[in-house]
Amino acid sequence: MARVFSGIQPSGEIHIGNWLGMIRSAVKLQEENDALYCIVDQHAITGHYDIGTLSQRTRDMAIGLLAAGIDPSRATLFVQSHVPHHTTLAWLLTTITPLGELERMTQFKDKSQRFESIPAGLLSYPVLMAADILLYRAEQVPVGEDQVQHLELAREITRKWNATFAPDEPFFPEPQPILSTARRIIGLDGQAKMSKSLGNTIGVTESPEEIWQKLRPAMTDPARVTRHDPGTPEICNIYHLHKHFSPPDTVELVAHNCRTASWGCIDCKKVLAGNMAATLAPIRERYAELSARPGYVDEVLGDGAADARRRADETMREVTERMGFLPGV
Ligand code: SF4
Repeated sequence: MARVFSGIQPSGEIHIGNWLGMIRSAVKLQEENDALYCIVDQHAITGHYDIGTLSQRTRDMAIGLLAAGIDPSRATLFVQSHVPHHTTLAWLLTTITPLGELERMTQFKDKSQRFESIPAGLLSYPVLMAADILLYRAEQVPVGEDQVQHLELAREITRKWNATFAPDEPFFPEPQPILSTARRIIGLDGQAKMSKSLGNTIGVTESPEEIWQKLRPAMTDPARVTRHDPGTPEICNIYHLHKHFSPPDTVELVAHNCRTASWGCIDCKKVLAGNMAATLAPIRERYAELSARPGYVDEVLGDGAADARRRADETMREVTERMGFLPGV
């Protein structure tokens, strides 16, 4: 049994890109591992953010994760800001993290261009991520492609801390990445990765009608100008979505009907919309049930935070001792 840690942004809504990528694998991982799933609200404030909706987005994400199958009797589900040790450890790790390493992070370079005055939190974001992982001495971390570089830095910080403060026997395990098999889900524009900020998503709790309204105008193979023009399914995102939501014989039929122009793109999308709505129906229903039970969700997050704090206390006791601090009374 490995200890697995995963941080999830409080974006409010889980879209099919998150679900097919990270969340389905998190549900599987909790079966055979000691899994900790943390809604990283402190990471979410490192840029411009909407103060008024942060708490609701955090709660909605918790409900979404529970609806998608995260089981609090198997995994520890909690909110990052409910466990203050994350920022304490992040500060300690900041003192051994080379500035140059932080400055060369691709995400920092991209995101810092949006600011006239760059917040230091944007630079030290990967250190907080390293602290999230090390606090629980996690061995495995499910990550998307965009976080691989940050995890590599977390591994480097781990090696440096161990070499400095635990030279005889490493205290922190070096966290290993788990890359999702459904790594990159393209959005409905057929261009960029599915992302809420690009408005090219379908939420896992959307109704069949909402799913259809989004799929209907979605980008397809541009060669299919009329119903009689054959297409190339491999270059069409609708075909790739079929592979996630439709049975294999339907996927074969989609490819055949596309290549031979035996149906139009609207027919193809209707089949996808039906299969997607059916696949997501249990999540939608459970989400509605849980939304009506806010007390239960608070209880789950309270229990999760208590468990996380207990584990974090153990780590921090060892860390502060090894770093030479005077123990408190
Ligand atoms: S028929 Fe289906 S797979 Fe082919 S281009 Fe249209 S939507 Fe895409």
